[in-house]
Amino acid sequence: MGRDNISEIIKDSDIVIDGTDNFETRFIINQFCLEKGIPWIYGSVAASYGMVFNIMPKKSPCFNCIFGSLPENFVGENSGNAGILNTAVNVIASIQATEALKYLTGHPGLMINELAVIDLWNFSIELIAVDKSGKGKCAVCSY
Ligand SMILES: [Zn+2]
Repeated sequence: MGRDNISEIIKDSDIVIDGTDNFETRFIINQFCLEKGIPWIYGSVAASYGMVFNIMPKKSPCFNCIFGSLPENFVGENSGNAGILNTAVNVIASIQATEALKYLTGHPGLMINELAVIDLWNFSIELIAVDKSGKGKCAVCSY
């Protein structure tokens, strides 16, 4: 998925749940979903941990609010350089699906409003408040 075909792939979606493996694509999804007002359930997995964040246009910080300060061409840990504990994929995908169900069944107030980070190998679950001090400073969402 890239800028050339994202519209064709998700333009008529009520919600987006991604399983992409790179920051470039995630920034493209972020911008497209914000422009179209489509909620996006971001999820990623690397090594034994993963994270989930619900990006609700005009209601929450966006992907760029969280990761926009990373250096250009930042790679980070991914399946190619860190491998993936396959059980972590199932956990993150289940959380993403549950968050989508909450939205689609009319219960958006139950959705996680923090960055959820889960490490299965060392077993930890963290809910990290996304810094809102930059309100109005994000170049993508102006949150
Ligand atoms: Zn933003």
